[in-house]
Amino acid sequence: MAKDTLAPTHTGELRASISRLTRILEISQALTSTLELESLLQQILQAATELTETEAASIMLYDKRASDLRFVAATGRNSQELGRQNIHVPIEGSIAGTIFKTRQPMLIEQADADPRHYNQVDEKIDFDTRSILGVPLRIKERAIGVVEVLNKLKGTAFSSEDIQVLSTLAAHAAVAIENAQLVNALQRAYKKLNELDQLKSDFIAIASHELRTPLGLILGYASMLKDEAGDQADEKLEAVLNSALRLRSLIEDMVNLRYVQTGEAALELSQFDLRDLAQICCDECESLASTREQSITYNAPSEPLLIQADRSKVALALTNIMTNALKFTPNNGRIQVSINKHENEAWATITDTGPGIPAKDLERIFEQFYQVEPHMTRKHGGMGLGLSIARGMIELHGGRIWVESEIGQGSRFTFALPVDGPSSTPNVKDDKS
Ligand code: ADP
Repeated sequence: MAKDTLAPTHTGELRASISRLTRILEISQALTSTLELESLLQQILQAATELTETEAASIMLYDKRASDLRFVAATGRNSQELGRQNIHVPIEGSIAGTIFKTRQPMLIEQADADPRHYNQVDEKIDFDTRSILGVPLRIKERAIGVVEVLNKLKGTAFSSEDIQVLSTLAAHAAVAIENAQLVNALQRAYKKLNELDQLKSDFIAIASHELRTPLGLILGYASMLKDEAGDQADEKLEAVLNSALRLRSLIEDMVNLRYVQTGEAALELSQFDLRDLAQICCDECESLASTREQSITYNAPSEPLLIQADRSKVALALTNIMTNALKFTPNNGRIQVSINKHENEAWATITDTGPGIPAKDLERIFEQFYQVEPHMTRKHGGMGLGLSIARGMIELHGGRIWVESEIGQGSRFTFALPVDGPSSTPNVKDDKS
């Protein structure tokens, strides 16, 4: 393989050398800006044959699972066959394998006389390999594959400059290939994630739809039996009814979540006093709070705080936040609800003396299904949808929602709504329910 270095003593050789280097630079720049793997590999092959003045070129990449090299691209006639046939080249006993293993270039002037030449490929694509120059695709000390150029044109032998030029090209190519592979892997993961997300949405849609009808029947008959029994209704019937009501609220959460996700939620705007709505929510929570000896205090300005909003959706957001405050705050804890006006916004703040939320989770608790404690081990019920629905409802109005919290001290949830309603019409379709 060792060759005498060609000293560019003549001006002509020097010029040729400079123009090759300039070309390498141009090619490297083009390579680093290509992230699509297929076209990147083709660019590398083209550059390799052009710079070394050869008939054909091929690229093999290391396949971790098979622990061998796999043809990923080649130039020339029938080269596409290579990709289709998924040809693997063993590391042991092959020329490419040796280049890969030793991470050193290799020059074979007479391929047919070399037992390591893997001529299965020649046969498959009907090619006659005479000479081979191969270099590793290396990133620092790590090889990711091999690039080979075949058959020097015009019958001349490979020079040491060819080795240098191909090695330089391979160094740039290796980085570009790895980047493109990373981008590919990211895109695949992103696609998979989207598919999973879609699957989850479909599941929610189907499950909530299919559960609604039988649940309606259970609720209907249980209520009828309770009415018939009057004062005689026993606790078992009460338990059936309460469990069915709980199930209905879970299904409603799923339906609401879906409307937020698909943008199907329609706003029915009206003007109302946020103070009244908050007062009603507090009253509704009162009986649950008293069973736990929790206190709810309510502060609001003396003047009406009129807002242009969808009353039932704001109520849903407020109820979800308050239900959490009651759920997570221990017995004897305090929950405070305040309504205020801040410039053009109406703010509702719900403060509790619960366990608090770790700083790392403050953003994430507004994501669907996210719960600070793992679902299976926690003592509180819920599917992790309440806050994502609350956020959806508030953002539909062009509002904001956030939380401040300190572990051991409690949490403060606030939402801010524009008093004049959403500035632009939200993406509204029909209000199907
Ligand atoms: P769920 O209550 O059904 O779990 P949410 O979306 O309403 O779902 O809340 C997500 C998570 O945020 C909860 O599981 C809990 O970990 C945390 N969280 C919400 N509100 C509070 C609160 N007031 N105090 C402590 N943690 C809370």
